[in-house]
Order: sequence, then structure tokens, then C-alpha cells
Amino acid sequence: MKLIHDLKNNAWALASAGIVMIIFMVIFETLISAESQKAHAKLRAEAASYTATLKSKVDRELNAVLFVTSGLSSYLTIYHHDLEHQKVQSVLADLYARTKNVRNLAVAVGYKITYMYPLKSNEKAIGVDYRALPHQWPQVKAAIERNEGVLVGPLNLVQGGRGLIYRFPVYINQKYWGLLSTVINSDAFFKSAFKELVNEEFGFAIRNKETREVFYGDPKLFAEQEVFLSTSNSTDVEWEWAVAQKTEKASKLLLITRLMGMMIAVLMAMLVYFFLRERKMLTELATHDSLTGLANRRLLDIRLEQALANAKRFNRNLAILFMDIDHFKQLNDTHGHDVGDALLKLVADRLKALIRDIDTLCRISGDEFVIVLGELNDIHDANSIANKIVNAFQGGVSILGERVSISLSIGVAAYGGESEETSQSLMKKADVALYQAKAAGRNQYKVYTEVGQKSLFDITEP
Ligand code: GH3
Ligand code: MG
Repeated sequence: MKLIHDLKNNAWALASAGIVMIIFMVIFETLISAESQKAHAKLRAEAASYTATLKSKVDRELNAVLFVTSGLSSYLTIYHHDLEHQKVQSVLADLYARTKNVRNLAVAVGYKITYMYPLKSNEKAIGVDYRALPHQWPQVKAAIERNEGVLVGPLNLVQGGRGLIYRFPVYINQKYWGLLSTVINSDAFFKSAFKELVNEEFGFAIRNKETREVFYGDPKLFAEQEVFLSTSNSTDVEWEWAVAQKTEKASKLLLITRLMGMMIAVLMAMLVYFFLRERKMLTELATHDSLTGLANRRLLDIRLEQALANAKRFNRNLAILFMDIDHFKQLNDTHGHDVGDALLKLVADRLKALIRDIDTLCRISGDEFVIVLGELNDIHDANSIANKIVNAFQGGVSILGERVSISLSIGVAAYGGESEETSQSLMKKADVALYQAKAAGRNQYKVYTEVGQKSLFDITEP
């Protein structure tokens, strides 16, 4: 409740604090988004370069395996007239030993698989005619028709596991002679190819672009928001590569920076709020009375000066009422200082209720109050307000559970157009009138008149 009251009373400070907070937040957000764009671009460039390294490594490793096919093709072209089974098997064994991750090497003379290395667990393939294999024949046929090596996969192999299959047709004198097949154990192939390229920052995955089957890495990478996607065609089938940051270091850092920015903005707003509130309080302390909250003597001087200047300028009437509580010392002594204080507040509230907003009410010391009645249409209005004030306290008041008799004496001084009048001289006149009211028995008001002159009010005083 106290906080809400405090905020309501300092709405201007609160609004300023809000504006400061918004300005800081906008500045931070602009800086952060510029930085994040830069970081994003850098990350993409790094991901692209990493992808290029990976792809070229795959190409190099594939070439290192597939070169054996060219050698084998040359051998068969030269010796195709008198091929000896044992010799061909020995050549295949030698080539096999020179490569890594090859599952088997096969030679089909015509369309029938005739030679195979290693033979172990592949014996059944010997003698098989490609044309009788509905799954393989279309690809075999395509390789033969294109008269060039075709690499497909990775695909699930009948023998289990996944493999890349390279099919190379051998043409002798522009005539199809046979087909060389190299089956690469793809899982082992990728593992050894990427062994030295493991990156702390990035993770990657590869899939068949058409079937979307992921054959290397974590499939989840393809669904990442900040993923770098690219394709490659090392094989006859297009591969899609996904490279993404392993940890969300960047976005965490961004969140922390954003939170820090927000905290600074809130802190700045709070500083502004407390500074303005403190300043307002200090200004109020310097110009207001802390007990009643009314303007003090210092503010009275300023207001009276202004009011008098305006009255002179616009040819208006002005009056001041100088009030002093009767026998206040005695009230204090009888009822205690707390009752005295409460009484001063009550008097302040009642007086406030009797005047207009444009009039100034001040407590200038102890039990002395002054009212400046500016913009009076009729000078006699001051008379009736003074009368109302005296009557407002007749019959006493109830204060902190006690019934207290109280009365006020008032000195009234009016300005009616005298050019030499000053705020000091007007106050002095009101003071003289107050003294007269006290001397005449208190609980009444007196209007100041010059000796031998008629009162400005031209009325019979009570
Ligand atoms: P008089 O009718 O002549 O005005 O008699 P008085 O007793 O009111 O005399 P005076 O106006 O000179 O005294 C004002 C008294 O007000 C003096 C002091 O004890 C008391 N007073 C001054 N400031 C405060 C205050 O802040 N609180 C309380 N309770 N009393 C105050
Ligand atoms: Mg008094």
C-alpha cells in the first residue's frame, strides 16, 4: 500500500524512469541484434568451410579406394583372352589388400559374377546373373549403358550392414565385356574418413536427399534452427549435409547479455526514480512545513511577491489574513504537545477547506498561519472569509478523544492599488491588525487602518 501511495505521489518521477528504461532497452536491443547478426554470419562461414573440408575428405577417401578398379580394368582388358581363374583371384586379393574398408571385389564376365574376393561367405554369389536380380539389374544396366563408373548408396546390403557400391563396366574394342563391382563398408568408411575431422564446435549428419534417410550422424541436426544445409554429388545419389553448432553457446550468451541489458535498464530507471523522488522531497522540505504539509514562510514570501505583482499589473484587489491561535501555549500545557500538534494539523485542514485553490495558506511559525487571498473581486470578501474562519472554531473541537476549546485572532491587511505597497509592508500591516485583535480580547479579526484614515473595507468591524 505504502509503495502504491509512494508511486502515485511521484507519478512524474515514475514516468521519467519508464522512459529511461525504454531508451536503455532499445539501445541494448539494437546493439545485441547487431552483434548477433555478426555472430550469425561468422558461424555460417565457419559451418560452410567445415562442410567443404568434410566433403573433400570423402572425395579423397573414395578415390583412394576406387583407383583399384582402373588397375583391374586394365589387367582384364589386356588378358581377357586367356584369363586364369587363380591369377585373377590373386590380383583381386592383392588389390583388396591395398584398400581399406572394402567388403568385396567382384568381376562379372558378361552379366554373370565369375570372380569374387574374398570368397568366404560370398560363395553363393558366384555364377549369379545380374539380369536375374530385379533389385540390382536396373542400376547395373544403367552403368553399362552409360559406359562409366557409377557409385550408389549407402544402401542396406543383403549381407547386412550398409554399403556403397561402385559399378564399373569394362568395354573392350567398344564392346561390353563385363562389370567390376566394389562394395565399400560405408559405416567403417565414414568412420575412418572423418576420424581426424571431429570438430569441438560443430556436429554434422549426412542423408540421402531423395529418401531423406540419414546414414551418418545425428538425424536431429536436420531439424535444428541454425543449421547449415548443403548438397554434394560424390555418388550418383545426391547427399544432403547438415552442419550445426553442438552446444547453444551463442544463444545462451545472447540470453545472458539480454538479461544483463535489462537489469542495467531497470537499475538506471530505479536510479532516475529515486533521484527525482529525493529531489522532490528536498524541494518540499525547503518550501513546506513538515507537520501540516502547508507552504512555509519561504514559499509565502515568493507567493506573496507574485500575488502582489499580479495585483499591481492587472489592477486587482488582494488581502492577507494573519492568524494566531489564542493561548496556544496554555493548550499545549493542559493537553500535551501531541494534542497541540494534532490541533495545528486540524486548524490547517479547516483553513484549507475555507479558501479557494488559488489562495495560498501557509504556516509561518508555531501557531501562526497566513492566507494570501489573490484575485479578490470585492475587497469585502476578505472580511467575510475572516469572519467565517473565526466562526469555524466556535464551540471547540474534538482532538485525539479530547474536547478542546480553541479560538483564533486574525489581522487583515488589504492591497487596493497603492503603488508603494510591498509584501513586507503588507505583512507588517496584517501583524499590526493581529496585535489589535489580540488586544481587543482575541477570538476576532481586525482590519488594518492607517491612523486617521478610513478603512479600505469601510465596514463596521466586529
Ligand atoms: P497568544 O494568544 O498571545 O497567541 O498566546 P499563545 O500562548 O498562543 O502565545 P504564542 O502565540 O506566542 O505562542 C505560541 C506557542 O506555540 C509557543 C509554543 O509553545 C507553541 N508551539 C510552537 N510550535 C509548536 C509546535 O510545532 N507544536 C506544538 N504543539 N506547539 C508549538
Ligand atoms: Mg498564539
